[in-house]
Amino acid sequence: MPRRPGLNGQILLAALAGLLVGVYLNLAADDSPARAVWLPPLQLLGGLFVDLLKMVLVPLVLASVASGVASLGDHEQSDRIWRTTLLYYLGTTALAAGLGLGLMNLFAPGQGLSLAMFRDAMGSGPALAPLGLGEFLTHFLHGLFVNPFKAMAEGAVMPTVVFALLLGLAIARLGESASRLRQLLDDALNVMLVLIGGIMRLAPIGVFALLAHLVATQTTALFASLAGFIAVAVGGLLIHGLVLLPGLLWLLTRHRPRAFYGHAQEALLTAFATCSSSATLAVTLRVACEHLRVAPRVARFVLPLGATVNMDGTALYEAGAALFVANLAGVELNLLQQLVVCLMAMLASVGAPGLPSAGMVTMVMVLQSVGLPVEAIGILLPIDRLIDAVRTAVNVEGDLVGSLIVHRVSGLPADD
Ligand code: ASP
Repeated sequence: MPRRPGLNGQILLAALAGLLVGVYLNLAADDSPARAVWLPPLQLLGGLFVDLLKMVLVPLVLASVASGVASLGDHEQSDRIWRTTLLYYLGTTALAAGLGLGLMNLFAPGQGLSLAMFRDAMGSGPALAPLGLGEFLTHFLHGLFVNPFKAMAEGAVMPTVVFALLLGLAIARLGESASRLRQLLDDALNVMLVLIGGIMRLAPIGVFALLAHLVATQTTALFASLAGFIAVAVGGLLIHGLVLLPGLLWLLTRHRPRAFYGHAQEALLTAFATCSSSATLAVTLRVACEHLRVAPRVARFVLPLGATVNMDGTALYEAGAALFVANLAGVELNLLQQLVVCLMAMLASVGAPGLPSAGMVTMVMVLQSVGLPVEAIGILLPIDRLIDAVRTAVNVEGDLVGSLIVHRVSGLPADD
């Protein structure tokens, strides 16, 4: 009996089927019965899939960020290790998101398309009207600290992330006496992951419906821009992984890139194949301690934390993808809005668990932050397997480079 294809295979097949149905409906006359019968249910199904993704986003981000930050309290690390690790995570993630934005601005795939479907979908989002700097800052800062219940009820992700960060820090600070709350958050995260697993099993249906509806109502120019977007995204990930990260490593530790890749390849290939930083973690730890000679004390702190919060590839991709979607929707984002995208992409990469296509769930929050249509997930998901492989390898590479840099700064011997 032929084996049923895995989830990625199913998503690809669904995308293909969606494409065919979409082309068929696209060629049919505007008032044909086929369009009248098919378009409304396709729109409904696609919409429901997007609703499911939005449904889990806020609890996922809360549990993932709070439990990640709270786990800092597990380790009795010196201040130096702590600070270097956080500085490194922040710096490289910002660099990656900035690179993603820069490249998308430069090559602008999808510009000039202005898809009607996206324009219509945007009516409900926050206003895109450009604000002045002062107004923007006031608006932005006021939006950060909000009653968490209100923020969650309204699906406002940014204040939820801020609250989750503070909650995590407070739990870390309290240590043992808050261990039950920490355990609760860990459990909540695991439960959310099960839910997301269930939702992703519906992804083939969602992708089929979203894509069929999109193609039925669009022109072919979309597909040329999609190819352009893939090229720019993969190109950006390669620049980050093959130039910026090894460059930084060499500058700060004098580690030669060739030797680094020779040692790290086992972890990088595993990341590429599994599309999961978490699934790769055991290999990453082994590579760091045995091949790269990072002190286990450093590796055991930097790498597990990095596998969930440090995702350069994800930040780069999400920032770039938001700009691509803006181009598709025919919206020009001004500098401030791009800054918001950059920040949200960084937070989204922190909030994404190290699982296949997890970045697609948190992509919702980046799109929402500047009022872009969440329906765009329907275009991004079918091509995600390829990009996810590359961005996960970059995510794991970022963790390994970080462990070497923190090791160097800590001054610990390799066997500590
Ligand atoms: N798959 C990525 C990881 O595990 C997360 C993402 O979807 O960007 O690192």
